[in-house]
Parts: sequence; structure tokens; C-alpha cells
Amino acid sequence: MEEVIIIGTGCAGYTAAIYTGRANLTPIMLSGTQPGGQLTTTTEVENFPGHPDGIMGPELMMRMQTQAEKFGARIAYEMVEKVTKMDDGSFHVKTSSNEYHSKTVIIATGAAPRHLGLPNEQKLIGRGLTSCATCDGAFYPDVPVAVIGGGDSACEEAGFLTRFASKVYLIHRRDELRASKIMAERALANPKIQPVWNSGVSEYLTDEKGEMRAIKLKNLVDGTESEIEVKCVFVAIGHVPNSGFLGDLVDLDENGYILQTPGRTSTKTPGLFAAGDVADHYYRQAITAAGQGCAAALEAERYLTDLEGH
Ligand code: NAP
Repeated sequence: MEEVIIIGTGCAGYTAAIYTGRANLTPIMLSGTQPGGQLTTTTEVENFPGHPDGIMGPELMMRMQTQAEKFGARIAYEMVEKVTKMDDGSFHVKTSSNEYHSKTVIIATGAAPRHLGLPNEQKLIGRGLTSCATCDGAFYPDVPVAVIGGGDSACEEAGFLTRFASKVYLIHRRDELRASKIMAERALANPKIQPVWNSGVSEYLTDEKGEMRAIKLKNLVDGTESEIEVKCVFVAIGHVPNSGFLGDLVDLDENGYILQTPGRTSTKTPGLFAAGDVADHYYRQAITAAGQGCAAALEAERYLTDLEGH
């Protein structure tokens, strides 16, 4: 019987592993399909404290892995299929190739940014296609960029990008924003933001280096096509939290994010904790995910102490 299983190896998972490792709980981490999490798909990370000159996302995650392993974390590159609560209060975790039993489980499976599904988008991620203005906006000073989406995220990203870009096209498939009134009004009042209504991106066009050069747009009302030159496209059409495999063990909000006990990382199931982007649609930063990973580890430790009656 394990003390702690951590599902997910992003910032939340590794931080939970460092803390539970240092508490001698020798956690097992189950990595899923994207070891290292979302930061492995970005380039330079400039906003993680302690790295004044920035650090490449994959390197930061490698360093977190080394730190977690140093304190006894074991990493299994397996995909979790199901988690079941047993009659004795422990958890049975079934992966693609193994089975585990544990007294506690920390869910740190993150969320995947939704993309449009265009043919060359996987190759363009990090080369002018991203979902994080806070991470990548500063790399595009004085050039035109585009944001796709019409929700709060799109408005927020567009507003943030006006600090750097010469112009921000806000491309939305309808003729009004879904965003809250205040955020929509703020975006539309910003002289650097130009809305492009009733439009869908049909193609990402690249330069000779394979980087973003322009987007092809289709007007969804009259079917006309046009092209806009942009150096970077920020996709803000929502995230998909990786919470679907948990069944009834957790309550989810209407977007699939795990509901935690207010102010805590515990869930409705005793011994099951959630940290990072799988439970947080609001901050969605590496450092806030790491902070939640720490909190989940401390709560798991206290839960185990209570189980033993100390
Ligand atoms: P969202 O509210 O679901 O908005 C997604 C936007 O993307 C919508 O405008 C939607 O268009 C568009 N979209 C979805 N799929 C698309 C597709 N395949 N092609 C083109 N466009 C597509 O997502 P979000 O903006 O990420 O916000 C998620 C939650 O976080 C919301 O509850 C939001 O209020 C909250 N949030 C709050 C803040 C804040 O308060 N500071 C900031 C960010 C997010 P339609 O409008 O046509 O459906």
C-alpha cells in the first residue's frame, strides 16, 4: 500500500512530490501522456521566480523532476484509466499497464488548451502559436498579433498583449463577445484592439523558417476569405481540464474543473486532493499550480497523520 500517488507531472505534481518526498512518503507519480505538463510546450519562461534570466520550459520541468527524484519520488510513465475508492477508504488506481493501491491520491492532471484542429498547428506551437499571453506576449514587441476567441480569456489576453504588440486582432466567430460586460467593454475600448467579427481562422500560414506569418480568415456570414499578417496567434477558445477519468469521486463545475473544498485542495472524497489547472480556471499559472501542489501535499500529510491517530 502506497502512502501517496500523484497523478500528473506538471508544476503542481512535481511540487506535491517534492513536499511529500521530503516528508518520507516516497510518492509514486503517474505521468500521463504529457510528462512535464504544459510548460514542456512553451519556450522561455520569464515569470517563474528564481530565474531572473528566464529558463526554458522543458528545462524547468527537468529540474523539478530531478528535485522530486532526489527526495525519493518514483515516476511511472503510465496513463491512469480509473481511480476507485475501496471499502477500507484507500484508493485503487488502474493504469494502462499496472495497478496501485494508495491511502491518498493527489490529482494534478492539468488542463489542455483547446485548439482549432488545423493541420499544421502542432508544429507551430512555440513558433508563433500559443495559448498563453502571459508566457509569450513579451516575445512579440511592436508587431501585429491575433487572439482567437470571444470569452473573458480572449479579452484578457488581448488587453495584456497591447502592452507589447503594435496591434491585436481579436477574431471571433460571432458578432458579439461572450465575455463579461466589463471585460468586453474594456477590450473594445482599447484602441490597439481591432475586433474581427463573424470570422473563423481556416489556415495558419508560415514563413520560410516555419514560423507564423499570417492567418487565413473565412467570414462565416458571407463566406468571403481574407488574410491578415500576424507574427503570433494566441488561441483563447477555452481549456479542457483532464478530469474525466475520475467519475463520481469528484464534483465538477460546468466546464469540467474539479471542485475543491473552499480554501483547500481537498475534494468531496476524503483522501483525494486536487491541485493546479485541473481545479483552477482562474489563475492558470505555473507558480500558482506549484503553490497548490505544495498545499495538496501538506493536506495529504495531515490526512495520513489523522488516519494513524497521531
Ligand atoms: P469561454 O468563456 O468558454 O469562451 C470561449 C470562447 O471561445 C467563446 O467566445 C467561444 O465562442 C470561442 N470558441 C469556442 N470554441 C471555438 C472554436 N472551435 N472556434 C472558434 N471559437 C471558439 O472560455 P474562457 O474565455 O477561457 O473562460 C473560461 C471561464 O473562465 C469562464 O467562466 C470565464 O468567465 C472565466 N475567466 C474569467 C476571467 C476573469 O474574470 N478575469 C478571465 C479568464 C477566464 P462562442 O462565444 O461563440 O461560444
